[in-house]
Amino acid sequence: MKNFALIGAAGYIAPRHMQAIKATGNMLLAAFDPNDSVGIIDSHFPNADFFTEFERFDRHVDMRRRARNGGQIDYVAICSPNYLHDSHMRFALRSGAHAICEKPVVLNPWNIDGLEEIEQETGRKINTILQLRLHPAIIALRDKVARERRSTKYEVELAYVTSRGHWYLQSWKGDQKKSGGIATNIGVHFFDMLHHIFGKLQSNVVHLSNDTKAAGYLEYEHARVRWFLSVDVEDVPAALRDTGLRTYRSITVDGDEIEFSGGFTDLHDRSYVEILAGRGFGLEECRTAIETVAAIRGGKPMSRDVDSHPFLA
Ligand code: NAD
Repeated sequence: MKNFALIGAAGYIAPRHMQAIKATGNMLLAAFDPNDSVGIIDSHFPNADFFTEFERFDRHVDMRRRARNGGQIDYVAICSPNYLHDSHMRFALRSGAHAICEKPVVLNPWNIDGLEEIEQETGRKINTILQLRLHPAIIALRDKVARERRSTKYEVELAYVTSRGHWYLQSWKGDQKKSGGIATNIGVHFFDMLHHIFGKLQSNVVHLSNDTKAAGYLEYEHARVRWFLSVDVEDVPAALRDTGLRTYRSITVDGDEIEFSGGFTDLHDRSYVEILAGRGFGLEECRTAIETVAAIRGGKPMSRDVDSHPFLA
């Protein structure tokens, strides 16, 4: 049984980590969040210690690290806002623990280099949550592409609209310096998935980029991808919006829809199983996706053209 600590325990995604720690037969010993709305801990680990001040959490983790009778923290799960991930991963590794960090692992590619040095110094590993790589439909598509070994590129269209209320732009998620912006915060899953399936990234063009939506064109070794992301409910196609739907997700490959609306519920559990078996996705595996989102963030939108997503028409 491994011992866990968790950073960012009061947030939306933290309970999935608590659940995954429990489902894999491990123990949460300590949790930290500046916000104390953490009653959810009782549903999973009622005996866990909890801290709202980082310094007290640090003292507790260090006391465990030095203890001679066991109880050291083996893994720190990181569910804090994106711009804090690298600092929290450094804390985990320097405390003698491995890290399991939510996406995006960092905001910029050069942050990866510094973290790799600390991995070397400490002998501890950083694992990230890239749960789409574990989704059965994505595994099937990746296998199909590998099997077909086509010489022509696949034509891919990706649209993801996940409506958020007014709170979104008031929170850290709406602040580009903290979340990286929508392409980073929401898109990174998809950009990682595209690279995982279609290989090396060759071209990255931005057609639209603002607080609530982004779109562009990506070319990979084996695919040409027109993509569109939004948190604006107005972008849900009208016929669906009229039925009350606030989310729209469509990925087509050569015009065929990839069905992956189900199969999402236990992907954190599966990520933990893989990580604990030593098969977690590490820093290098994230590099292309992080380079992709950093370039989109820094990119100047170009005029729309034949490679723009049809939603921009
Ligand atoms: P959230 O805002 O609901 O939670 C973030 C938590 O971090 C809050 O409880 C906040 O109080 C806490 N926090 C703020 N400052 C902190 C600090 N200095 N130290 C420690 N904790 C601090 O956000 P969320 O939606 O739970 O997202 C958390 C992370 O999980 C983000 O990196 C996000 O990108 C990622 N996420 C991943 C998925 C996924 O599907 N894998 C889904 C949603 C979010």
